[in-house]
Amino acid sequence: MLTAEIIAIGSELLTPDRTDTNSLWLTEKLNSIGIEVKLKTIVGDDDARLEEAIKDALGRSRVVITTGGLGPTEDDITRKIAARAMNRRLLLNEKVLDAIRTKFLKMGRAMPEINSRQAMVIEGAEVLDNPNGTAPGMYLEHDGRNVVLLPGPPREMRPMFENFVQPKLAAKAGDVRVVRRILRVAGMGESAVDERIAPIYTQYRNPQTTILFNNSEIEIHLTAQAKTEAEAELLLDGLAGQIEEKLDHAIFAFRGEKMEEVVGLRLAVGGFTLAVAESCTGGLISQRLTEVPGSSVYFMEGVITYSNDAKIRSLGVDSELILKHGAVSSEVAEAMAEGVRHRADTDFGLAVTGIAGPGGGTEEKPVGLVYIALSDDAHTEHRRLMIPGDRNLIRWRSSQAALDLLRRRLI
Ligand code: AMP
Ligand code: MG
Repeated sequence: MLTAEIIAIGSELLTPDRTDTNSLWLTEKLNSIGIEVKLKTIVGDDDARLEEAIKDALGRSRVVITTGGLGPTEDDITRKIAARAMNRRLLLNEKVLDAIRTKFLKMGRAMPEINSRQAMVIEGAEVLDNPNGTAPGMYLEHDGRNVVLLPGPPREMRPMFENFVQPKLAAKAGDVRVVRRILRVAGMGESAVDERIAPIYTQYRNPQTTILFNNSEIEIHLTAQAKTEAEAELLLDGLAGQIEEKLDHAIFAFRGEKMEEVVGLRLAVGGFTLAVAESCTGGLISQRLTEVPGSSVYFMEGVITYSNDAKIRSLGVDSELILKHGAVSSEVAEAMAEGVRHRADTDFGLAVTGIAGPGGGTEEKPVGLVYIALSDDAHTEHRRLMIPGDRNLIRWRSSQAALDLLRRRLI
């Protein structure tokens, strides 16, 4: 199998402000054409460190991909240092220079002199056009290595890779295709999932299975290798089918979909409408639902009722109910769900009330106690949850459990 490594270049990527997401995206793409990523490096805008990093990479990997440092400013050193690391000259490419000038003219501006740097091309390199920016990329073969220099901004890097680099590398990789599939599970713990499915997946080396814990979700990652994508998909179908038999409705996504997408699709297909009343989640559920394009078809209204008074005024919750049971109670959760459903005149009303902490807990009602409720015109039900974790996690998991309650009703 062809192996690759990625060098992400940019001092900002070493700070907490910016994350190197390019290498993650590239890894996925490379895997899909049967190239394994063995190593990745993040290097600041430093001549010496970058030269070492590129030389090291050339010494051990058949495919070396860099991203970043192709801009027009003084700290963009990738062209210069990559040329130096390979002992090649940097030459001014008139065609590239013209193309950059034209791009500026189209924006009604003259090309700033510093942008002419971006027309410097490593001797022997193929220039990769950049429709979304000025910095062209480069591709070259050097001592049997495939070297690719890509720009840093993801919206420039991605199309360049897909249009020019991926077909070239796919041809070199030959007949190996790697396909990944992500199954997502709700309402079950990691060890419970593993207990049920380990007897199955341990029998297979291809597909390979990894179980990951991510926020409130268990993810089952299946990776299959085969000569063609179709064959790999078949292998995945086989194993995913057996896993589904064991976990049943606990699996809410078979292709990595998000919970809010799955719920949204079910609502849309059924022609149902939804309104949401939130207390401790502060709008998170509504936010997640409305992140999905097209959600206006089924999502009618979200109400954040944080105070008791708001629950009474906006949802018509009986003040006696709150006095008697407290705002965090099954009774109030159900009244909120019914209230918001009536208020918005929707098929479903979904509600959450709980104690997200870190303060506000009592012995009787500790931090992490959350009630979720779901109402339709036939009946109203609730769940009592004790969610471990910090405030963020409690809020997230509450939103997930509420959406999952609705999902299960829609099955
Ligand atoms: P550069 O090509 O070094 O001028 O990078 C320009 C911009 O691209 C940076 O400021 C980042 O916002 C973005 N960028 C660079 N490298 C990466 C990376 N590895 N992952 C995500 N964004 C990046
Ligand atoms: Mg940079």
